[in-house]
Amino acid sequence: MSADRSDIIDKIVSLAKRRGFVFQSSEIYGGLNGCWDYGPLGVELLRNIKEEWWKWMTYREDIEGLDASILMHPKVWEASGHVENFTDPMVDCKQCKARFRVDVLSEMINEKKKTKALEELRNSIIDDSRLVDKYSDAFQTEDPFSTILEDADLSVKLLHEINCPQCGNKSTFTTARKFNLMFKTFIGPVEDSNAVVYLRPETAQGIYVNFLNVQSSARQKLPFGIAQIGKAFRNEINTKNFLFRTREFEQMEMQFFIKPADDKKWYEYWKAERLQWFKTLGMTGNKLRYHDHPRKKLAHYAKVATDIEYEFPFGWGEIEGIHNRTDFDLSQHEKFSGKSLKYFDDESKEKFVPYIIETSAGASRSFMAFFIDAYYEEEVKGEMRSVLKFHPRLAPIKTAILPLVNKDGMPEIAQEIEKELRRNYKVFYDDKGAIGRRYRRQDEAGTPYCVTVDTQSLQDKTVTIRERDSMEQIRIPVDGISSYLNDKLKL
Ligand code: ATP
Repeated sequence: MSADRSDIIDKIVSLAKRRGFVFQSSEIYGGLNGCWDYGPLGVELLRNIKEEWWKWMTYREDIEGLDASILMHPKVWEASGHVENFTDPMVDCKQCKARFRVDVLSEMINEKKKTKALEELRNSIIDDSRLVDKYSDAFQTEDPFSTILEDADLSVKLLHEINCPQCGNKSTFTTARKFNLMFKTFIGPVEDSNAVVYLRPETAQGIYVNFLNVQSSARQKLPFGIAQIGKAFRNEINTKNFLFRTREFEQMEMQFFIKPADDKKWYEYWKAERLQWFKTLGMTGNKLRYHDHPRKKLAHYAKVATDIEYEFPFGWGEIEGIHNRTDFDLSQHEKFSGKSLKYFDDESKEKFVPYIIETSAGASRSFMAFFIDAYYEEEVKGEMRSVLKFHPRLAPIKTAILPLVNKDGMPEIAQEIEKELRRNYKVFYDDKGAIGRRYRRQDEAGTPYCVTVDTQSLQDKTVTIRERDSMEQIRIPVDGISSYLNDKLKL
């Protein structure tokens, strides 16, 4: 039985800290909001997720890898539209100084209060036909409250009718302002406006500006892709839900360059391929879905877009975006840099700007989804066990080696096994405490196999292997352990 989902985030955060998956950043100083540190087990899980992504995406002939720098020429962010558009509307409460992202504010207000605020807004404009006209379209939409709140112009009057969720006062909000989410810093010793650079808010732009470098050096022809894993930074107004929305995070992005006429085919291909990746690594199928973006809500660069969403305990949330970005990015960089980024097609003898299908996943958000998905609480012989049922390839520790008792020649055999396995796998040696407790500790760390050396091992050189999920044990020869594990760790 899976754990009760309502308090699962608290349990996960506590387990993550206790077992060394994730710590709050700068914890001894009270923490830094929106930043987290990965501990000994967490760093293994995160590396395994990135490794699996890298293999799935780049161990094929039509995708090349790249590692671009985090700091880029500031013009990049003008060309990409980030300076202009990478903003969230935000309001402050003048009374208690709390700051809210407008869409988050909307989520914090219950339906009854929303209806009341809309009614009051209606009453306040009823005598002015120009205002009625101005608001009429918004009132017709499915969610008039959010539509009006998210429009800087229309929201002024509605904000007047809302109580601040923090201090409860009415009419205390400022008008909505645009807040750019990019972190700014300076390059070189002089802190003036000519020296401004940004911490990249996405890894994609490093790929676009290197499109021709990669294409010509790797002698690739369309269609082909460029993949990159790296840190990204966003000065999110509200961080929340553990690793879901943080200010520093990692992305795993792949940009696939294609002929414009092939865009539908490749968009569908990558949609299917990316969902399959999560499923192949054990994520529960019915907790995954596509969420196609309605035309009206498409980002400025996208022709069509879908999110792969996971059903978190707090609701469905995006873990990866797949976008048809058309020729927007390369055309913009041509315009701003003055350099041609056109591709010459040998067959048709045509020169054109390729279209791009983007797959953009969060490594840290995927970490959180894999972590939550793997977490189970089960009753075993009257006792509760918490277990992380990671796919063996994602599990931080692949095998624990446990001598049943710390004497009679068992440690010697166990240490031999440890030495042999350690050459290829992250393993853990544990000779302390009752065997049942040692199994439970490994269950909680997500270790898929425990090798136990017992009395019989002394006689016939066999060991038991206990499988984490079924808790079944089988007996195999010591010299068969490596091939057993190799087999289990195949995809
Ligand atoms: P959201 O709407 O949740 O802010 P987004 O649409 O801005 O996300 P993209 O720009 O498409 O996200 O980024 C691609 C991926 O990067 C997301 O699917 C997510 O996994 C990850 N990501 C984006 N922002 C964050 C963040 N603040 N913290 C952690 N991961 C993030």
